[in-house]
Amino acid sequence: MQLNQRGVTVWLTGLSGAGKTTICQALEKRLREDGYKLEVLDGDVVRTNLTKGLTFSKEDRDENIRRIGFVSHLLTRNGVIVLVSAISPYRSVRDEVRNKIGDFIEVYVNAPLKVCEDRDVKGLYKKAREGQIKNFTGIDDPYEPPLNPEVECRTDKETLEESVEKVLSQIKQHLDNGHEVQTKLLSLQGIG
Ligand code: ADP
Repeated sequence: MQLNQRGVTVWLTGLSGAGKTTICQALEKRLREDGYKLEVLDGDVVRTNLTKGLTFSKEDRDENIRRIGFVSHLLTRNGVIVLVSAISPYRSVRDEVRNKIGDFIEVYVNAPLKVCEDRDVKGLYKKAREGQIKNFTGIDDPYEPPLNPEVECRTDKETLEESVEKVLSQIKQHLDNGHEVQTKLLSLQGIG
């Protein structure tokens, strides 16, 4: 059990099939084993409830991210580690959410489009190429990669374990920094 846990939002962005869900699930398992309080917001799941009815237009995609960001903020400020897995293709709304939340780790889950398309985990690329799905990210809709992500996972070049370790070390570093700040504040107030 971790007492006085600091919260942080870990935001995994990348193309469909890049590995967001896979990394997220592995992270969840590791963090739960270590006793952390955490919540997972998966883009596909969220679109069946919190953001149900939103389309894949730019406006609705941004609204989708703002709502996920809103919930992430509430949880983060209450000491929860929030793992968000969402394509989130637009840079400006990702940065908007980052600035609101503050305690934010952006993870760019990066694999070339060709690799994601060959994986075609959900069969969606095939449908997009055949024109059965419109506005599919990477095919006929844009993806704007992060310019300065805290972590980049090249899932075509590294193993899942390597990707997970990179993200875990960032999370732990973030939480440790928070602990240091808290200890300093308490000692300044004469409490620590
Ligand atoms: P997304 O959630 O980004 O749409 P998924 O996690 O559903 O992507 O699918 C990614 C696929 O890539 C999975 O089949 C996974 O096993 C595979 N994969 C291969 N190498 C990696 C890696 N290093 N990290 C994450 N996934 C990987």
